Amino acid sequence: MIDLNTDISAPGYTPTDRQREQIALRDRTCVFPWCSQPARRCDLDHTIPFDHAAAAEGRPQPGPTITSNLGALCRRHHRLKTSGRWRVSQPSHGVF
Ligand SMILES: [Zn+2]
Repeated sequence: MIDLNTDISAPGYTPTDRQREQIALRDRTCVFPWCSQPARRCDLDHTIPFDHAAAAEGRPQPGPTITSNLGALCRRHHRLKTSGRWRVSQPSHGVF
C-alpha cells in the first residue's frame, strides 16, 4: 500500500518503482493544464531540477529525488519545460 500524501525519497537521480507508482496514482495524468496523457506513460520530472554536480561540489541538492519534487510530464510537455518555454512549481505535495 502507498500513502499518497507521504514523501518517498531516493538517494540518487533516478526515481524508484515505488516513487513511480505513487506519482502515477497521485497525478493520474501529465500535470500540464488540460493534458490527458496517462501518468503511467509520462516521464517523471524533477520539479526543481536535480543538480548532478551538487554532491561532488559539497553543496546541498536543490532538486532531490523526493515525490514532493517529482511530477508526471508527458514527453512533449517535459521538453517544453526543459527548453525553458514553460515553468512549473509544486508549492505542496502533488499541487502544481
Ligand atoms: Zn502533457
